[in-house]
Amino acid sequence: MRIRLAHLYPEYLNIYADRGNIAVLERRAQMRGHELVVTAVGIGDRLDAAGHDLLYVGGGQDREQALVAPDIATRGDAVREAMDGGTAILAVCGGYQLLGRGYRGRDGQWLPGAGVFPLETVAGDRRMIGDVLLECELEPGERWTVAGFENHAGRTLLDPGATPLGRVLAGFGNDGSSGHEGCRVARAIGTYLHGPLLPRNPQLADWLLSQALAHATGSAPEPLEPLDDALEADAHAVSARRARDRGGRR
Ligand code: GLN
Repeated sequence: MRIRLAHLYPEYLNIYADRGNIAVLERRAQMRGHELVVTAVGIGDRLDAAGHDLLYVGGGQDREQALVAPDIATRGDAVREAMDGGTAILAVCGGYQLLGRGYRGRDGQWLPGAGVFPLETVAGDRRMIGDVLLECELEPGERWTVAGFENHAGRTLLDPGATPLGRVLAGFGNDGSSGHEGCRVARAIGTYLHGPLLPRNPQLADWLLSQALAHATGSAPEPLEPLDDALEADAHAVSARRARDRGGRR
C-alpha cells in the first residue's frame, strides 16, 4: 500500500528532530512492504482533506508558531474533515498547541489555532523540561508506556471530558498538575513528547501506521506484523529510567 503523509510546515515546525519521527514511520512501513509518500504542506498550500492517511505537525518555538498561526487558524475545517474521515494525526509540542484553539505566549500574544483538539494553552513562567513517562491505553485493555522528552512553557488545559493521550507516571505533562499528557481524538494524537518520539516508542509508531493503513484501505485497523524492536526497547528503557529518576509526578 501507499501511505500518504502530509507534513505540515516542515520549514517552520521542525525543532525537535521531527524528521526522525517521519523516518521511523517510513522505515517501519517499508519493512511491512508499504511505501510512505510524504508531501510537504507549507503556508498557503492547499490541504486535501481526503487525500492523506496521516497528518504530521512538529514542534517549534513561539517565534515559529507565530509565523504559522494565521495559516493554521484557517485550516480547522480541512483538518476536522480529515479527522472525521478517519485520517490519523500526530502533532508534537508547538504543533500540538496549535491544533487546539490557540496558545498565549510569554509576551501575551494570542496565537489562534485550528481548533480541532479540545484544549487551550497558556505560557507559564517556568519551562517544563526533562524526560517524561506516560501510561497510555489507546486500545481498550492494551496498556503501554510511552517515553519522551518535554520542553515547554505552555500549560495545556483539556476541556472537561476530553481524552488525554496518557497518564503521567513521571514528568510534567500537559500542565504539571492534572496528571494528563497530550490529547487524543479518534485517530488523532497530540503530545508534548519529542526527542524524537517514535524511535523509542515503536508501539506508538505502529499504532499510527495501522490507523493510517485503515484509512488507506477503508477497512478496520489491523495489528502489523511484529519487527525485532530490541534496540527500540533499549532506547525506551533508558528514557523511562531517566524519567523515573526525576522522581514522581511534578
Ligand atoms: N513555544 C511552545 C512552548 O514553549 C512550544 C515549545 C516547543 O515546541 N518546544 O510551550
